Amino acid sequence: MTVHMGTMTKLKRTAPTILVDMDGVLFDWGSALNRKLLELDPAFPVVAEEDRHHFDYFYVDGADTETIHRAMNSEGLYLGLEPIPGAVDALLEMEEAGCSVFLCSTPASQNPTCASEKHASVSTHLGHRWIDRTILTNDKTLVLGDVLIDDKPVITGAMEPVWEHLLFSQSYNRYITDKPCLDSWDGWESAVENILAEQKAA
Ligand SMILES: [Mg+2]
Repeated sequence: MTVHMGTMTKLKRTAPTILVDMDGVLFDWGSALNRKLLELDPAFPVVAEEDRHHFDYFYVDGADTETIHRAMNSEGLYLGLEPIPGAVDALLEMEEAGCSVFLCSTPASQNPTCASEKHASVSTHLGHRWIDRTILTNDKTLVLGDVLIDDKPVITGAMEPVWEHLLFSQSYNRYITDKPCLDSWDGWESAVENILAEQKAA
């Protein structure tokens, strides 16, 4: 995908900071979890990502929660992450367009290797320098930025966030209708531009 000169000039002038969530936005976490679940129990009733209707995986019908806990806390889960189509290119394009881009992700506190494996996956798919652009936090409202691209339906924390939430569309967040959405990475430029233009006008 090429970044249009008009966009580049505009973004360079404002040098916006874009925060990008990892699971369900940069990486296909749900599919990696499903692979782990099937390793633990080949008969596990996994739900394909496009059919999942709850952000919280524990709502899967007929699922054994103990197996879900084991899969979520298993070593290697976050090493097996594959990028969501277009995500890696989009992040590099954002940088090229003059944005300051950071990954912003919450490590699973019960999974002892989650944080280090997230760093490893970032290094594998984006390059080692992106580890220095990765913010692991349990409260994203404490992080400064102009836009946060995240698949979580509602993000709360200790502060009123300064960023605007651009919801990365997934089957489990389609009921949210009062936020700007990014349906696929192809559309990042216009979605981000719209938010920045509204912020500037406010
Ligand atoms: Mg996420």
